[in-house]
Amino acid sequence: MSGHSSIKTTTNTGTLNTENHPLDLIIIGAGPIGISCAIQAKKKGLNYLVIEKGCLTNSLYNYPLDMQFFSSSEKLELEDIPFNSIEVKPRRKEALEYYRRIADHFELNIQLFEAVIDIQSKSQNTAKQTLELDRQKEASLFQINSSKGRYFTKNVTIATGFFDLAATLNVPGEELPKVSHYFKEAHYYSGQKLAVIGASNSAIDAALACYRKGAHVSLIIRGAAVGPRVKYWVRPDIMNRIEEGSIRAYYHSSVTEISASSLSFTQDKVTKTIENDFVLALTGYRPNLPFLTQLGITLEGTAKIPSHHPKTMETNVPGVYLAGVICGGLETHKWFIENSRAHGNLIAEHILSKA
Ligand SMILES: Cc1cc2nc3c(=O)[nH]c(=O)nc-3n(C[C@H](O)[C@H](O)[C@H](O)COP(=O)(O)OP(=O)(O)OC[C@H]3O[C@@H](n4cnc5c(N)ncnc54)[C@H](O)[C@@H]3O)c2cc1C
Repeated sequence: MSGHSSIKTTTNTGTLNTENHPLDLIIIGAGPIGISCAIQAKKKGLNYLVIEKGCLTNSLYNYPLDMQFFSSSEKLELEDIPFNSIEVKPRRKEALEYYRRIADHFELNIQLFEAVIDIQSKSQNTAKQTLELDRQKEASLFQINSSKGRYFTKNVTIATGFFDLAATLNVPGEELPKVSHYFKEAHYYSGQKLAVIGASNSAIDAALACYRKGAHVSLIIRGAAVGPRVKYWVRPDIMNRIEEGSIRAYYHSSVTEISASSLSFTQDKVTKTIENDFVLALTGYRPNLPFLTQLGITLEGTAKIPSHHPKTMETNVPGVYLAGVICGGLETHKWFIENSRAHGNLIAEHILSKA
């Protein structure tokens, strides 16, 4: 097995001559689902390109170093290629290795470290100057502007996930270097007074891991209890730590201010201030919705679910598709790898049916 990869980190300036020969499909994002869309596009003979702003499976790369998936490994598999992991539920490092090997094996056309900045419908640009007949022909032609160039494509799949934008607290002091919305590794907080804000899986996993590395952990929880979606095998652990007082939980609490050495919050309308060295504000992540609306994709309901047809994954903008966890809008728990790995096939089939 050679150490060389077929995946390109390109300095391409978009001169694939796509202006004269538009691609069939550009996939934005090389997460597990962007990769699975690329495999399907390749299998169906589509002329496609994946553009990824970071490294391959960038979101997974940015997960906590010791993170263990809640899914068992076979539920993370693509194309029925076995995902062997040491434990039933794989760890981040194993998943990075699996998806890298998959992308390599299928010799996917992926350009890394290139961010898509915007997408323009070319027909809109030229509508006034173009005959109606030509406009119809151009109805589904897009110009993709990236950090490295521009491309033309007949279809676009947006598979950009939700992990890039953290839900913010919007309180004074949030910008201090001691505050982070991403948890990397527990060792860093050893012996420190750490406030973990949030009650769902990311917050609870971080609180337990840091407590076990000697941090003095306070959990600041807005509601009355630890979140209902906390993994059933983790729940007893956190509840026991709270009950025995190893981790201090403040319920009904909302952070109001963070300073260099303290954190203030209101609990049942009473303001409290605790000593604090570090804050992990793990209150969730959300997809880049303006990226969708600027393209004309409508967002439905309070969950802001981007409008799409469940059988084709095409949005209300013809030629623009969605794949992966972005489909859930603000309901980031609705889609995961197991139930979105079929999106790529639906999209490729629909593109072929239009040809
Ligand atoms: C801590 C944690 C644990 C999780 N555990 C599980 C689990 O056990 N099982 C499970 O199924 N799911 C799990 N998930 C959800 C998981 O993140 C998704 O299922 C999976 O990553 C979805 O893949 P995706 O391809 O849709 O999105 P992502 O993996 O997020 O991929 C999106 C990609 O798009 C790229 N991108 C974004 N914007 C741009 C742009 N403008 N230009 C170019 N590229 C861009 C990003 O860099 C990223 O690589 C977990 C999530 C978190 C946060």
